[in-house]
Amino acid sequence: SSAASTSAPVAHNAVPPPAASAAGRSSRIAPHSHIKGLGLTADGIANPDGAGFVGQINAREACGVIVDLIKSRKFSGRALLLVGAPGTGKTALALAVSQELGSKVPFCPIVGSEVYSTEVKKTEVLAEAFRRAIGLRIKETKEIYEGEVTELTPTESENPLSGYGKTVSHVVIGLKTVKGTKQLRMDPTVYEAILKEKIVVGDVIYVEHQTGAVKRVGRSDAYASAYDLESETYVPLPKGDVHKRKELVQDVTLGDLDAANARPQGGQDIMSVMGSLVKSGRTEITDKLRREVNKVVQGYVDQGVAEVVPGVVFIDEVHMLDIECFTYLNALLESPMAPTVILATNRGNSLVRGTSDIVSPHGIPVDLLDRCMIVKTDTYTRDQIGRVVQLRANVEGLRLGEGVLERLAGEGEKASLRYALQLLTPASILARLGGRTQIEVEDIGEMNELFLDAKTSAGMIEENGGFLGG
Ligand code: ATP
Repeated sequence: SSAASTSAPVAHNAVPPPAASAAGRSSRIAPHSHIKGLGLTADGIANPDGAGFVGQINAREACGVIVDLIKSRKFSGRALLLVGAPGTGKTALALAVSQELGSKVPFCPIVGSEVYSTEVKKTEVLAEAFRRAIGLRIKETKEIYEGEVTELTPTESENPLSGYGKTVSHVVIGLKTVKGTKQLRMDPTVYEAILKEKIVVGDVIYVEHQTGAVKRVGRSDAYASAYDLESETYVPLPKGDVHKRKELVQDVTLGDLDAANARPQGGQDIMSVMGSLVKSGRTEITDKLRREVNKVVQGYVDQGVAEVVPGVVFIDEVHMLDIECFTYLNALLESPMAPTVILATNRGNSLVRGTSDIVSPHGIPVDLLDRCMIVKTDTYTRDQIGRVVQLRANVEGLRLGEGVLERLAGEGEKASLRYALQLLTPASILARLGGRTQIEVEDIGEMNELFLDAKTSAGMIEENGGFLGG
């Protein structure tokens, strides 16, 4: 299956996607949990330290302009390219752009090299990431009625597939409630319950109604529990407690719906219902299935039940893509339901992968580069590194002893911001092992003896003539 190959949309998307991707999602986004947006004033000027962002003033203001373009729908068919050294906040900026576009806007980060999976076609990985970056906000109404059955009308329709004549397509149920008479629709599976319980006109029953159809029925005296709208579980039904109503909002992505429809589960929860939109025996996500999902989604949008929320797809190390992927990316950018595309690289001029002679800036073909607005990220000063480290320490609930911040800032300046941040967690473990609640300079020192930063590591190998040992 392709669901596990691509990372899922992140944290601010409410519906839990399939388990495999949920872990990847949170682990990718967790290091950025201090980032709350671009931290700009209403005029688009960057606050020196704002929304969890330290420095990177130009890049943040440039991203703010991009957000304005996206919001005024002037960015379609284009992409933002972030260029800068590792650990200079490219992922953090992309996430912040998605946050600025609104809460619950999906953010789907992938790394260029992820397309080279042995199980899934390269372009399929990109297609899936794009689908996971398009959100769907489903506004459901859940209602419970108690009333007397006034009408039970099965509607028969020809079943062209079976050739055996007529089948029940739906049943109209008339209900006289305390608030008046209602006509509701139910599908044949709910109708089976009516037949089984021998419910007839004149009986008093409970009905659960959700997004256009009856989901559950039962004889009033036998129907001991009902779906409680507050706790969202089945609870004993208090007599006379009728006619409840609740608006439910669910956020899913088109990628979730594709996956759910490729593996229908059955059941009454939202994902099961959304997972049987398309009647299919398929177990794979195909273009045809995606088109069918789109069609049903469009229907929901037209009815006002759902709203499309375009998000952000972030492709880090975009130079790892090959010419075939770049061509496909161009096509995806053109599609009417495309999310905002943010690319990142730390490469200068390089060979476009999959070609033998095309050298271009960042290893990206010129036809894609032409569509890009390029923003550069700056490397950090020692002081800025210290401020980010302090932010992370606060978020992770770590206390830093005398001199620790200065020490980490120094390490970060020598290696990278990422390295300084990476020292925090193991240092906190050392502190805990030592029975202390705060990290001391010696914890950092010990980490440094055990682990190398990348520059030191490469430098040591060079000193040894390119080999380890000796
Ligand atoms: P790479 O290209 O290697 O993936 P990157 O440029 O995407 O690196 P990030 O992953 O965004 O870098 O940054 C590394 C860490 O530093 C993350 O935890 C990120 O949230 C944090 N960070 C980076 N820049 C800033 C900043 N200006 N302010 C606050 N936090 C930052």
